[in-house]
Amino acid sequence: MAADNYETAPRMTIDLHTHTTASDGRLEPQALIDEAMASGVSMLAITDHDSVAAYAKLDTLVHDALRLIPGIELSTTWRGVGVHVLGLNVDLNSDSLHQACAFQTHARASRAQQIAERLERLGANDVLAGAARMAQGGAIGRPHFARYLVEIGFVKNHSEAFRKFLGSGKAGDVKQHWASFAQIIEWIRASNGIAVLAHPAKYGLTRSKRNTLIGEFAGLGGQALEIISGQQEASLTQTLADTAAHYQLQASCGSDFHQKGQPWAKLGMPLQLPAGCRPIWRSWA
Ligand code: AMP
Ligand code: MN
Ligand code: MN
Ligand code: MN
Repeated sequence: MAADNYETAPRMTIDLHTHTTASDGRLEPQALIDEAMASGVSMLAITDHDSVAAYAKLDTLVHDALRLIPGIELSTTWRGVGVHVLGLNVDLNSDSLHQACAFQTHARASRAQQIAERLERLGANDVLAGAARMAQGGAIGRPHFARYLVEIGFVKNHSEAFRKFLGSGKAGDVKQHWASFAQIIEWIRASNGIAVLAHPAKYGLTRSKRNTLIGEFAGLGGQALEIISGQQEASLTQTLADTAAHYQLQASCGSDFHQKGQPWAKLGMPLQLPAGCRPIWRSWA
């Protein structure tokens, strides 16, 4: 029975959510592509946080065995909750995308400054310079602060850094700098991309609030829902597929890969959408 519920043809591994060193991923853009091809991925989107700098670092966007879909993961807030929207198949040369990146880069920089100030008040030193060094020129994010706090021995490990200082509701969780939910959806659409609400089950929302978020996203012009985000329960996948159908949203899937050695977010992991979904890549044929 289970096989009937999954789209089996064509057998392709499609991963439309991954990160590189242009944001908080650990692989350089070309290394990510090489690793994806070696893992059997045939369609890949690099979706760095608020940046498309990875694409400029590649010698070519065209590969025989792998179709690269230009993408980005934009940060925003909804009712005080940090929310992410993927822009997939965006035009990398569009003015709207440039505008989005410029705005968000500035937002990220001023946010980083504020995060650093807060962590310094709690006793850590040279935080902004330390996190910037960890980011190595990429978009600076909370994982870079976490890596620095580990390096200076302020916390034992990455997860303690998030649990005590950077996670939801903690001192370093600064959300107010981002462009609005409506604005980022508009930028993505104006860049000829598809706006996809990323990992809807990872915002710590109740099911009813999550549905409110998804309904509002659809109302603002959002076009697709990320039905699968890395390893997850089949029941959640089905619930999200039903929700997407209810709001007439297309369906996407991705690992949210950041680095090797994380089995829950691995390149080449099976990411098959349930039957009845409208996969976003159908319109890219
Ligand atoms: P930022 O883009 O600066 O808001 O950082 C968000 C990123 O931090 C996410 O994309 C994850 O890569 C990472 N992250 C968020 N929450 C956690 C957590 N609780 N533990 C580890 N990493 C996290
Ligand atoms: Mn990340
Ligand atoms: Mn995300
Ligand atoms: Mn992501």
